[in-house]
Amino acid sequence: MKLQGKTAVITGSTSGIGLGIAWAMAHEGVNVILNSFTDCDEDHDIANEIEFATGVRARYIKADMANGKECRELIQSASACDILINNAGIQYVAPIDEFPVDNWNAIIAINLTSAFHTIAAALPFMRKAGWGRIINISSAHGLTASPFKSAYISAKHGIVGLTKTAALETALEPITVNAICPGYVLTPLVEAQIPDTMKEYAMDREEVIERVMLARQPSKTFVEIEEIGGIAVFLCSTAASQITGTTISVDGGWTAL
Ligand code: NAD
Repeated sequence: MKLQGKTAVITGSTSGIGLGIAWAMAHEGVNVILNSFTDCDEDHDIANEIEFATGVRARYIKADMANGKECRELIQSASACDILINNAGIQYVAPIDEFPVDNWNAIIAINLTSAFHTIAAALPFMRKAGWGRIINISSAHGLTASPFKSAYISAKHGIVGLTKTAALETALEPITVNAICPGYVLTPLVEAQIPDTMKEYAMDREEVIERVMLARQPSKTFVEIEEIGGIAVFLCSTAASQITGTTISVDGGWTAL
């Protein structure tokens, strides 16, 4: 199956892993729909840059993944959705008894419920096209836990369950649904956690990276954004046609511990 000419909608794709997946798809000739909730000049510039560099069609559509209606409208406005990458995600770190309810609700909405809405809206497009790929970006924290990340870990475990359910509901169709579970990737989301962790553990930046973040990543190396892009492209390939309802860990051995 040639990916050229297909359309991928990638939520939360103006930065980090989502942007990396957009580039990886574009290099395969896939038209890409970029998304975030900001709608600033830079967002549209990224789409122009991808279009210029790869020759695919790239478009930015604003939609807040915390809002179910906007999640569904994103897919409708894309007007095609052969590949859906549910990537948008945020993080907040606090003990459960101090965890602000608003942060809990935002994380569950953006990291989990958004994927329910986008999948529901995308399936009719995929069924009409007779082909579809859904890739949910979960996390090593979709398979294991750590303290102080209750909302994130609940959402990331939840998206693994949603992946399995959607895969069973589409198993007789040429549609696959899988989750990628990365370990630590040095993106803005992870960068933002470093200062607080430095304070919390009274460590410098290098110590936080080595002794906290990569402590459970046996390879002692951050996963590269491009590596996640490569796995997403593989999941869209013919070789991956029978891979559905599963998780692919890209975590330097974290979940082998
Ligand atoms: P990032 O902060 O670099 O990018 C997140 C993207 O989501 C940005 O484009 C941001 O604009 C967008 N976004 C945030 N809130 C949004 C909203 N309400 N509506 C629409 N877009 C929104 O983060 P990242 O590290 O690239 O993370 C991407 C995904 O990968 C997340 O789901 C994250 O949980 C997951 N992940 C990241 C790591 C890691 O180590 N970086 C590891 C495992 C899983």
